[in-house]
Amino acid sequence: METLSQTRIILSTMERLNSRAHLPADLSALLGKTALLQAKNTGVLELDLSGIPLSQVPVCSPLDFSLDIKNFEALIARIMEAILEARDIMPPSVVNAVVQIQGVVGKKELSLEQAWNEIRIRFAGDDFSGTVLKTWEAQTPEAPSALPFLVMAAAAPSLQAVGRALAEAKGIDPEQIHTSGACPVCGSPPYMLELRGKEGQRFAHCSFCRFTYRIRRVACACCNIDKADQLTGFTAEGEPGFRVETCAECNTYIKTIDFRELDREAFAPLNDLESLPLDMLAANHGYTRMALSVWCI
Ligand SMILES: [Zn+2]
Ligand SMILES: [Zn+2]
Repeated sequence: METLSQTRIILSTMERLNSRAHLPADLSALLGKTALLQAKNTGVLELDLSGIPLSQVPVCSPLDFSLDIKNFEALIARIMEAILEARDIMPPSVVNAVVQIQGVVGKKELSLEQAWNEIRIRFAGDDFSGTVLKTWEAQTPEAPSALPFLVMAAAAPSLQAVGRALAEAKGIDPEQIHTSGACPVCGSPPYMLELRGKEGQRFAHCSFCRFTYRIRRVACACCNIDKADQLTGFTAEGEPGFRVETCAECNTYIKTIDFRELDREAFAPLNDLESLPLDMLAANHGYTRMALSVWCI
């Protein structure tokens, strides 16, 4: 998330989002601005990897991921400020939730670190009984995902850096074909796929640590079945560069970015929003999404 070119790609993707009349403009503004803040954030992370069991086979768990808490709290404050500064173009329900959350964080009545702990437990698939998230779902019924959104948005730079460091420490080669569709670093399911290169090498984007890794061309990224007759998909008019891939075995779907014939670069967190109409089509066909977006919404 750290380079100038990343910022350039985000800005050009935002332009495309703005030109799509059927996309909610306030949601585009919210995610676009947040992505820019995330991109501007890197280079200052202090991460402690000492407690992570590197020898654990085959993967670590979201529970092993630590954050640079100072950076996390500073970024969440910046994101909340940015939302309130641009309140005219932001989703009103999110603005209201942010006003409430900002108020209690200021009075130290809400621990963002505890909210983060509950979210990683949720990602790890453990029994979930987090009181902070449940309380805030009830507190902000019009934007029940507001707190998870803020927490994951501010955690993203740390998670991405830890994911990369773990991959390096464990010798995980992102270019090597992984037999399982789950993230080789943290075990989470991917939220988007992407085809790259002349041969259409297939890459998966992790929904938790954002690690990108190569997977098999014909295999479900959820249940790993590789029978071609169970795996189908579709495209939609007006959605160039995107395809939905479905699995009859586990009844899930995932969207694939394929910009190889288009003059543009991928930025999966926003391309996911851009291709929202395909989610509606997949849901109409009765398929369940493999993983939430990286925005927890
Ligand atoms: Zn991961
Ligand atoms: Zn499947």
